[in-house]
Amino acid sequence: MHLLDDLVDYAHRMSSDHLAFGTSGNLSVRDDEALWITPSGVPFEETAIDNVVGIAIASGKIIHGSARPSSELPLHLALYRQRRDVGGIVHTHSEYATIFAVLGQPIIPVHYQMARSCYQVNCAEYATYGSEQLAQNALATLGSRDRAVLLRNHGLVAVGDQLSLAYQTALDVEWMARLLYRARSIGDPRVLSPLEVEQVREQFRHYGQ
Ligand code: 13P
Ligand code: ZN
Repeated sequence: MHLLDDLVDYAHRMSSDHLAFGTSGNLSVRDDEALWITPSGVPFEETAIDNVVGIAIASGKIIHGSARPSSELPLHLALYRQRRDVGGIVHTHSEYATIFAVLGQPIIPVHYQMARSCYQVNCAEYATYGSEQLAQNALATLGSRDRAVLLRNHGLVAVGDQLSLAYQTALDVEWMARLLYRARSIGDPRVLSPLEVEQVREQFRHYGQ
């Protein structure tokens, strides 16, 4: 099935794209009234159709698979329940985004590319990994429109209408976090205004072919 193939393919890319170290991070995709999520504590290269887990979004119950689902299932469930526009979720501990998360600093817009995701990537309050509180904190900071949020002392969550967009957002945010970190090491980067970011967001609607 196309959705499951996508989930497995993107999971396989996590380490080589420097989005994951060891088994940190997880991915899921919405499938109508259900979601498919990566198994807990399994190296990404070992993700396969027969170890991903199907969950009913309304009840949170397992409907397919025998592996234990990602410990961040409450986070994924909360996002799909509250954000009807979300079709895929990527959670990472990618290095530069996580530097901002441990500092509790937003990734501010110093490059117009930020307009694809939000005005800036804000940081949610700390809560234990896998907890309902972490899910609620992430949701509260993400709001109804943003596509990326930092988890304090933890990592990043990126969402998209499809898994491909969530994955691209995770890559984009990591790139922008690295850019900001490096720019600040030699100077004081100019920050784009909300209006400038909004203008780029509008222009992106007609970008490309
Ligand atoms: P899982 O292996 O259970 O998905 O946990 C990884 C993680 O990043 C927890 O926040
Ligand atoms: Zn995590």
